[in-house]
Amino acid sequence: MNYKLLGDEHVGRVGRDGSTLMERFLFSIAKQWIAGNTMDEAIAYARDANKKQMGAIINRLGEHMVSGEQIEKTVSEYLMLAANMRKNGVIGGISIKPTQVGLAKSARECTNNLERIINKASQSQSFVWIDMESSEYTEDTISIYLKLFEKYERLGIAVQANLRRTGRDVSMLLRHGAKIRLVKGAYRENAKTAFRTRREVDGNYRKITESLFSEGNEFAIATHDSAMIDFAVKLSRDHERRFEFQMLKGIRDELKPKLVRNGFSVSEYIPYGTNWLPYSIRRLKEKKRNILLLGSSFLQSHRV
Ligand SMILES: Cc1cc2nc3c(=O)[nH]c(=O)nc-3n(C[C@H](O)[C@H](O)[C@H](O)COP(=O)(O)OP(=O)(O)OC[C@H]3O[C@@H](n4cnc5c(N)ncnc54)[C@H](O)[C@@H]3O)c2cc1C
Repeated sequence: MNYKLLGDEHVGRVGRDGSTLMERFLFSIAKQWIAGNTMDEAIAYARDANKKQMGAIINRLGEHMVSGEQIEKTVSEYLMLAANMRKNGVIGGISIKPTQVGLAKSARECTNNLERIINKASQSQSFVWIDMESSEYTEDTISIYLKLFEKYERLGIAVQANLRRTGRDVSMLLRHGAKIRLVKGAYRENAKTAFRTRREVDGNYRKITESLFSEGNEFAIATHDSAMIDFAVKLSRDHERRFEFQMLKGIRDELKPKLVRNGFSVSEYIPYGTNWLPYSIRRLKEKKRNILLLGSSFLQSHRV
């Protein structure tokens, strides 16, 4: 984001809570994708999703943590989240980024912390998903998943169709009976590691969707792309499988109830927390129209 484009006088003005005008403006846009700053807001939103017959997957925002104190605080927050989901009867699970719980420091620390959370979540019948981050973490994330999956059955892992390695990873994961969430991939990668064109990424997404329907069970097709969703719907007619569609909060809200009405399982990914900026920037970049929306609403609200 080029803050300069919007003018230093707007960016720098500080409000009573210490936030700049730019931060407050970006938060007003980000609010469509996140439940709010607090766990209570996430639980309330999740209950709402349940009322609409959707599962709720709650994520505490944050990534790339290296301070021991910060990591421990995040683990405690997830432990509390698992307990609160149970107390409030939320149907669904939680989703964790490995670098929130130590992967940027060591795989061992990450594994131990994840195990503490999964243990707690399994007592409340909550499913745990491990998000996939940038490719430098893929190998470790998969190893950690396989290690924990030996002990905990209600555990899933995200894989990214934009990575060249993912077809092979999925074949190996399926041999272990892994529970897989297929996404396109949200991180910028180099051409050696990742497919760069939409055609290639979508082609790989379809290929992996076929593998999931022929060899997998209990998997998630996580996309907002109607072409990918229609493809999965078609495959589901010939392959009876337990799977669900997963979509992010605030995206394709018109499609979610239609899929539910048509008898498909749908879950909504619901992030919350104060560290909303990196997540929101990824969402903004995913659609050109979002950038235009950002520009025009800033101009309208500030008449610059
Ligand atoms: C439940 C879930 C979990 C995820 N977990 C991970 C993860 O662990 N790791 C990871 O790298 N990525 C993850 N992602 C993000 C994913 O990789 C993509 O970046 C994101 O879903 C956009 O890709 P798409 O499949 O929707 O297809 P795209 O081709 O990007 O979009 C298809 C269509 O969907 C709509 N759309 C997509 N994004 C937006 C948006 N931001 N605003 C408005 N409309 C939009 C538009 O109509 C667009 O034309 C997850 C996504 C979901 C849904």
